[in-house]
Amino acid sequence: MLRGITDWIFDLDNTLYRGDARFFAQIDKKMTDYIARYLALHPTEARLLQKEYLVEYGTSLSGLMAVHGMDPADFLDYVHDIDLDMLKPKPELRSLIDALPGRKFILTNGSRGHARKVGTHLGLYDLFDGVFAIEDVDYIPKPKRSPYVCFCDAFDIEATQAIMFEDSIRNLEVPKYMGMRTVLVTSDHDWHTPVLNKPTGETGPAPYVDYVTDDLVTWLSAHT
Ligand SMILES: [Mg+2]
Repeated sequence: MLRGITDWIFDLDNTLYRGDARFFAQIDKKMTDYIARYLALHPTEARLLQKEYLVEYGTSLSGLMAVHGMDPADFLDYVHDIDLDMLKPKPELRSLIDALPGRKFILTNGSRGHARKVGTHLGLYDLFDGVFAIEDVDYIPKPKRSPYVCFCDAFDIEATQAIMFEDSIRNLEVPKYMGMRTVLVTSDHDWHTPVLNKPTGETGPAPYVDYVTDDLVTWLSAHT
């Protein structure tokens, strides 16, 4: 049983639903298509650039804005226009999140519209006290520090009483150093691998990861 947690913060993609190759691959592929068209590149080159920017700038979008001055709105609309049918709502996850003692938030590098659409489709959206999307942090993504600070300020969150759930390991480093507890949600098919979720230690994923689980429902059942 976790004590002293007043604020529960969840990433959206691949965290509130199980990381599924087919689902997130739609967004990944649409990003490649968009970049190829926008910069008139061969898809192979576009994909390399997409992953390079993801590593260097936190999101591919952030790199495109910084290097090419791209307007984010059209890109976000395009890449988030995807088929949600393969995402199945989990009533047990809804019950567990609903029962958490304290406030619940979504903090995502995706757009507001995407968070609303996916969150609603999963039957979870109405449970959250606040949703912070990429537009709310001036398009500066996790793992940079400012979106976390901005988010905590906006909702008056005391980091030492908060816990963050994430599938992208590097997005847990700043929250941990701010004082939050951290949970890495993994899946068999990790779409980040090997770009981002490289193992960083011999014995565990990283010193800033407190818990690792491959199933949010199981973890919440055991710890709350
Ligand atoms: Mg994610």
